[in-house]
Amino acid sequence: MTFIVAIDGLAGSGKGVLAKGISNRFNFSYFDTGILYRGLAYLSLKKHGENFTEDNVINIAKSYNIDEIDQQKIRSSVVSKYASVIGSIPEVREILTKIQRQFKEKSTNDNGIVVDGRDIGTVIFPNADVKFFISASIDERAKRRLNDFSQRNEKISYNQVIKQLQKRDQRDKERSVAPLVAAKDAHLIDTTKINKEETLEIASSLIIQKLDG
Ligand code: C5P
Repeated sequence: MTFIVAIDGLAGSGKGVLAKGISNRFNFSYFDTGILYRGLAYLSLKKHGENFTEDNVINIAKSYNIDEIDQQKIRSSVVSKYASVIGSIPEVREILTKIQRQFKEKSTNDNGIVVDGRDIGTVIFPNADVKFFISASIDERAKRRLNDFSQRNEKISYNQVIKQLQKRDQRDKERSVAPLVAAKDAHLIDTTKINKEETLEIASSLIIQKLDG
């Protein structure tokens, strides 16, 4: 049985950083499922511009290979926005759900896997061994995102980032299929006042308890 750590949470809450930390510490394989949604949004925008239809996206999703996507191109604010737009299309989620579950089936890592996203502990792997739900204040998340964008030389204001995060959180929480919600058995971690090392310590001790139990 593959040991599974599921991490869900708000945009910019630090789930990706935590997932990478867990992957390194426990030698687990890591899957950032956001890249599936981002990659599909990127391809839809590239092929059809901002006026793409749901059918356009579904058609692209049917023959989708994430390995063909340049990872540098999917981190822009435009792609972030459309990733959450296409993420509310039920047929898209169905196709991407299969790809996410295949990651576990194909994993040859005997130690385990760590997967981050929005519906990992609730829909993709409801039987995950350890689940985390990560949050942080909107102000803290906006500062982190602003820092990411400035490293990519993307010019965007603090207020614009706040608006984008709020809109994205709203779309993620309100969609009809697999909305963003903490699983009942998830450990909640608020990273507003703790740094990434402290967050990793908290999560690691809970994983160790489960591995030892
Ligand atoms: O995690 P990241 O910010 O890269 O995700 C981009 C967008 O993709 C999210 O705002 C969300 O709408 C969508 N997503 C999702 N389910 C996942 C991962 C990402 O709906 N498992």
